[in-house]
Amino acid sequence: KAKELGGNSYYVYGDEIKSKGLEKMMLVSQLRQGIKNNELVLHYQPQVDILTGEISGLEALVRWQHPELGLLYPDKFIPLAEETGLIVQIGEWVLKEACKQVKYWTDLDQNIMMSVNISARQFQRRDFIKEIIDILNEVGLSSKNLTLEITETIAISDIEHTLKILDRLNVLGIAVAIDDFGTGYSSLNYLNQMSVNELKIDKSFIWDIEKNNKNKMISNTIIILAKQLGLKVTAEGVENEEQLNILKEMKCDIAQGYHFSKPVPKESINEMLSIKSPI
Ligand code: C2E
Ligand code: MG
Ligand code: MG
Ligand code: MG
Repeated sequence: KAKELGGNSYYVYGDEIKSKGLEKMMLVSQLRQGIKNNELVLHYQPQVDILTGEISGLEALVRWQHPELGLLYPDKFIPLAEETGLIVQIGEWVLKEACKQVKYWTDLDQNIMMSVNISARQFQRRDFIKEIIDILNEVGLSSKNLTLEITETIAISDIEHTLKILDRLNVLGIAVAIDDFGTGYSSLNYLNQMSVNELKIDKSFIWDIEKNNKNKMISNTIIILAKQLGLKVTAEGVENEEQLNILKEMKCDIAQGYHFSKPVPKESINEMLSIKSPI
């Protein structure tokens, strides 16, 4: 029977699985090596205050400068890193690098926040808070300049742990944003108990907001919800003026997206902030 069904393609399929597994294993060992060889880089995407038009923050987004494959985006290696636990090392590096960089900018009198994405494995670590405090102390950065982005799914996966961690972060003065809001397993009941500071409307609601009335309504509802709870609200994936104007009308606080800038290396942020590079 199997022969009838599959024929040669049966074996091709099997080989494909095997080679995918091999490719994955190679990528994992290259990633492990790449972390040591300093191949990870951070790009930064401006977050713009919709009222003033000024850059109020930056989101740090990791990339991997692979020696053969070129610049790799997070979707190519973050899931692998999550699976293998390498994300813990990567996450620590990202946090430190982002803190160092925003320290540099705040020392130049830039009033700017840095947002860092935190993965589930990182957030669930017992010494997560200690790691952050150590990094802030080592870098000499005020906790006021740091925002941690977590997803709803991370937040509610172990709600008791989450509530404890969020309270401690709140006491430390570190802000927390719920990333990709509206796409995960959110619970309004938990949102009400969690000490978070910001909601980020997922880009899937923003990309066609000027044509899709349902997405416009959903975005508007998230903005109203945020306001009612006293939270800051950011729209991600803003790609054009029309979308920005709609968000402005709906009183969204902050916009982030290609309309302003793609994620770029720190040198480009220096230019945007009109910082002269040291001679
Ligand atoms: P995210 O945190 O939701 O980041 C927003 C993503 O949307 C980024 O993709 C960004 O480049 C993209 N984006 C921004 N503006 C626009 C726009 O106007 N249009 C479109 N189409 N896309 C836009 P990126 O850099 O590829 O990152 C993807 C995801 O990878 C992030 O989603 C985040 O979940 C994860 N990630 C990135 N860096 C890190 C990191 O350092 N640690 C962890 N744990 N995850 C990270
Ligand atoms: Mg994010
Ligand atoms: Mg997001
Ligand atoms: Mg996302």
